Amino acid sequence: MKEKEFNKIPLTRFASTIADISGTEKPKQADETRVDEILSLVKTKTGKNTVDKLLIFNPDAIGEEFFKRYETKIFSPLTERADLQVKFLTAVPPKTPVCFATMFTGASPEVHGIRHYEKPVLKIDTLFDAWARAGKKVALVSKGGQSIPRIFAERNIDYFITSCDAESVEKGIELIASDKYDIIEVYNQEYDDMLHVTHPRSYFCLRAAKHYVNSYVKLYDAVKTYWKDYTSLITFSPDHGAHRIGKIFLGTHGSEIPSDMNIVHFFSVLGGNDE
Ligand SMILES: [Zn+2]
Repeated sequence: MKEKEFNKIPLTRFASTIADISGTEKPKQADETRVDEILSLVKTKTGKNTVDKLLIFNPDAIGEEFFKRYETKIFSPLTERADLQVKFLTAVPPKTPVCFATMFTGASPEVHGIRHYEKPVLKIDTLFDAWARAGKKVALVSKGGQSIPRIFAERNIDYFITSCDAESVEKGIELIASDKYDIIEVYNQEYDDMLHVTHPRSYFCLRAAKHYVNSYVKLYDAVKTYWKDYTSLITFSPDHGAHRIGKIFLGTHGSEIPSDMNIVHFFSVLGGNDE
């Protein structure tokens, strides 16, 4: 199944929407248009415009095309738990630091300045800065050297640098259980790593995607257990998709084509009125 259309909602709308839900100001240069469906979900499930806690899970390189192909076979634990799916169009070029910079600043690559595969410390305002200014306790969890801990370094938040995805998920669960944080971001990368050394539908990539889903379920269950006295928003938020070069070569991403540009984010609200 090949998608031919580009999704309509730019990823630049993620940051100001999430800022609203966390009760903080938006990053200074963020797109001001909100994603109304996400705001409505929070209102409907909690009776309020904000949540107490936020867990953002960032699994690298899951595109809409891959999700749709394996929706039943791999992703049903995710879709069963998600209250809402939002189809975003990511940033150009669809490469990891470009897209995560856009996700957390709400700005286009022309504005935030990361326009290639490079990982400078971002100088413009981000969600992490907006949260810190509002007095939120924020944890960022990732394997070392990756885009997220590098481009969002030097913020007034706590960094937990691990040696692998599984350790990041375990750390995330430990931090949820500790109840010390308002906002926790957990990054995982196995699928992106595997698609570049195999191809996007290889055995290793399918296994990596299953690991993402299992990790999401573990984090979701931890929120349900340890944050039961709070309202929480949990997101599954990839950065871009991928495609295969020809029919026999490796996987890649970075082209302005639907398979690389179209992504789906999943949102769940726990602890609200109807729980
Ligand atoms: Zn990526």
